[in-house]
Formats: sequence, structure tokens, C-alpha cells
Amino acid sequence: MSVLSQPRFHDEAAAFAYLESVIWADGKVCPHCGVVNGRMYDLTGVRGKPSKKNPEGAIRHGLKKCGECRKQFTAKVGTVFEDAKLPLHLMLQAVHLMMSSKKGISSHQLSRVLEIQYNSAWFLTHRIREAMRSGDLAPFGGNGGVVEVDETFIGQLKGVEKRRAFHHKMKVLALVDRDSGKARTMVVDNVKAETLMPIVLANVAREARVMTDEHSGYRDMGKFFAAHGTTAHGRGQYVDLADRSIHSNTVEGYFSIFKRGMKGVYQFCGEQHLHRYLAEFEFRYNNRAANGFDDKARAIEAVKGIVGKRLTYKSTDRWGAASA
Ligand SMILES: [Zn+2]
Repeated sequence: MSVLSQPRFHDEAAAFAYLESVIWADGKVCPHCGVVNGRMYDLTGVRGKPSKKNPEGAIRHGLKKCGECRKQFTAKVGTVFEDAKLPLHLMLQAVHLMMSSKKGISSHQLSRVLEIQYNSAWFLTHRIREAMRSGDLAPFGGNGGVVEVDETFIGQLKGVEKRRAFHHKMKVLALVDRDSGKARTMVVDNVKAETLMPIVLANVAREARVMTDEHSGYRDMGKFFAAHGTTAHGRGQYVDLADRSIHSNTVEGYFSIFKRGMKGVYQFCGEQHLHRYLAEFEFRYNNRAANGFDDKARAIEAVKGIVGKRLTYKSTDRWGAASA
């Protein structure tokens, strides 16, 4: 039996029950007055406004009423799904599909699988990416752990002339904490030391050992951290033979998954959306099997992430550039 045959992926009431069980796992919260585990009533059988498709009005699933402030809401209020018009069970299918495919799923493919319009699929995937955005700010490499740092270039900046080197490409910085096996990635304007150093300083503990290649942007790293190991990729050196812990192969491996996915699935992506694609790859990587997550657990983590994040048409340039 396929995972997708489970009720929450087909039945709207079951979908709401699942959403509630995940986001209210630590207690039911009224999104209006913030009361936790206050009086809350299920409003069953309430219907929306009559429409051509639904002359009697569609049933409003998951509707609750707060006994404290008397306001109505569903578990979607205050989440990235709040303004979404699609049925919740379809959106949960989309979350599952994005979580269970290594490289992600294109909006074109999603629109075919879910039989929804391309624009709806595109916007839905961005809502889900927003949910995957990590709020984790704790520095990497505490207790003298190793952090690998590297940068990469991808795609093409809009309206920037192709010149030598990577001037016309989008730039991404990645940090990987070898102990926790977690990655943290961000879009950067350039790869100069003055840009990279403040980011690394804000995200890496002073007692960490930092590994990079010989890029000049990292040259002062040794002054700020317990140790700075470099390998000379330009000369074909990927591991220091005298100290085999000196390498940045983990972060290189991270970029190779990211680039294969971006190339294979998300062929075009404007810079205004790149941070959300980064969040998606980072999320799957940090919640991967080796870190103890299966597809189901990964989907639960993603659904947890929908709380407190909202994405509306206003805040996203829908026609921007993305068509992946
Ligand atoms: Zn309330």
C-alpha cells in the first residue's frame, strides 16, 4: 500500500486532524488570543457561502471556536497555508512529495501529479519551502568541533553581463557542522573576505576548527578560530595527507547534491527566490536518514515549520523569474 493512500492525503477532515496533531502537539493554541489549552469547540457542519460549484456552500473542515475570545479559526491560521485556496489534503501530498524526493519536485511535475494549475503548484511549493526555512541560529562547531566552509556559483544573475570568473552568477555560501551533520546556507552578494567573514563569525563558535579551500576570502580565518585548515584544490589537493581531518569534502558533497537538484529539477530560478530553494535543500539534508529521519518524520518536521510563517502573493513576485 502506498504511503499516499493514507486518509490525510485524500480526506479533508483527516487532513485537518493530522495538521492539528502536529502543530498542537504541545497544546492547542488559539491564534487570536494566544490562550493555550483553553476552551475550544469543534464547529461541525458549518458551510461557506453558496457558489455555482457548491450551491449549498462547501463544508468548512477543521473549524474551531475559542471559548475565551469567541473567535473562529482553523489550524491553518497563522501558517504558510492560511491564505492557500487548495484543499489541505492536496497540500499535505505536496509536502510529502517534496520531502521524499532527494532532489525535490518541479512545479510542473507537481501540477501534473496533483492535477492542479501550474501557478497554484508553483506558489504551493514556495509556501512549503518557506515552512522549511530554518530558524536555527546556534553557532556551529561548539566544543571545538569542525566546521567546513565553502562557496559556490550557480545560475545567472538577471541583467548582469557575462564576464570572466563568476561575476554574472549567483553566489551561495555553505557551512557544514561535521559533528551534527547539519548544513547552513545563504545567498551572498560576493565572495570577498569583507562579505564572508562577518557571516562565518556570526555562525561559527570561536573554539571551532574551520576548514576551507585556499580562496582569499577565507585568508584571515585563523585569527578568529581555534584552527584553520586549508586544502589547495587548485593544485588537486583535497585532503591534507599529514592531517586527514583537514578537508572540505563534506561541504563539497553538499553542493554537489544541491547543484544536481537545481540543474535537474529547478532549471531556472531568480535570485529573489534562491534563498527558498536553499532552505529546501538544507532542510532535506539536515533531516536526512543519516541524521535519523525517514520520509514521514521529515514531513512532520516540515509541517511543524509552517507555524509562524506566512507567505502571501504580496510578498512574493509570482511572475519574477522562476518557472521551475
Ligand atoms: Zn481565543
